[in-house]
Amino acid sequence: ALSIGIVGLPNVGKSTLFNALTKGDALAANYPFATIEPNVGVVGLPDERLGRLAELYDSQKVIPAPVSFVDIAGLVRGASKGQGRGNAFLANIRDASAICQVVRAFSDPNVVHVDGKVSPRDDIETINTELILADLQTIEKALPRLEKEAKVRKERAGVAAAAKAAGELLNEGNTLYSAGFDVSELGELHLLTAKPFLYVFNVDEAGLSDAAFLDDLRAIVAPAEAIFLDAKIESELTDLDEEEALELLASIGQPEPGLHQLIRVGFRTLGLQTYLTAGPKEARAWTIPIGATAPEAAGVIHSDFQRGFIKAEVVSFEDLMTAGSMSGAKAAGRVRIEGKEYVMQDGDVVEFRFNV
Ligand code: GDP
Repeated sequence: ALSIGIVGLPNVGKSTLFNALTKGDALAANYPFATIEPNVGVVGLPDERLGRLAELYDSQKVIPAPVSFVDIAGLVRGASKGQGRGNAFLANIRDASAICQVVRAFSDPNVVHVDGKVSPRDDIETINTELILADLQTIEKALPRLEKEAKVRKERAGVAAAAKAAGELLNEGNTLYSAGFDVSELGELHLLTAKPFLYVFNVDEAGLSDAAFLDDLRAIVAPAEAIFLDAKIESELTDLDEEEALELLASIGQPEPGLHQLIRVGFRTLGLQTYLTAGPKEARAWTIPIGATAPEAAGVIHSDFQRGFIKAEVVSFEDLMTAGSMSGAKAAGRVRIEGKEYVMQDGDVVEFRFNV
């Protein structure tokens, strides 16, 4: 399954953030949360559409799309040379589909910084340098073999050339993701910096309300996505009931928990979207890759649905809500009958017809 690996220097708030993520929170009371292993947590994708669907259909349950996070501890300066947990850490990160880098941007003299000063830019460079060095090692190790293969088999020439080009970008200090490098030919190398990156800046209360400060942080990582939150407050939110949580958020000028934003951005960074189904039993979000067709979407519910796919009855969530009911949406001509070629859109409310 697709998961997001949480990395960052020691003492930046990774554990605090991970615990807050997996503890569950009052503002998402209906969402199932689970911790599979100590360092793996599955959380529900916050989606206010589900509550409204459940209301419309009088559904007993709300089931959000799951998003997996893995707390990957142990990345320190020198990890690529075997410092700290070194290679064990790198193996963990290889399994993640996207990388969420937590960066300290709070000042608290009581929390020691490993390098003695709080500098988001330097910390990002430290982490990314380790990942870049690990990729360079992978490429240097593979290149002699790839070049040999290229001489014997024409179809392998592209792979060797791509590895060389990737090595050059890495040597200049770029991650392959930030350089927009096409790694489709290099899948077999499992390069770390080719994964999508997103950045969580662990900011304190003063920082959260300082727009210029946040803009500067955003500029460091653009065009990658930046999320700003206060990990300490996020972990306190999970201990409160809904009303108290909303009050605390309002007091720091936040419309919703930063964690909700993180889960949504993480989900999007994985290249995923959801479609919705609803009935008296449950209102549910299903995960599909962006660009999935209707039969592929049906296959997420059950492989039989994909095999026996006939058609899909589709209405956009907005159209359904505007009409106030499925029969109303049908009467208004907003419910479409779609076939095998239909490319699903985020928020489609769907009923599949299929042969068994
Ligand atoms: P990790 O090593 O990256 O997992 O960091 P931890 O989550 O264990 O946090 C390290 C220390 O920083 C702990 O003492 C936390 O209580 C503290 N900490 C984490 N997040 C924040 C924050 O947002 N603000 C402040 N002031 N302290 C924090």
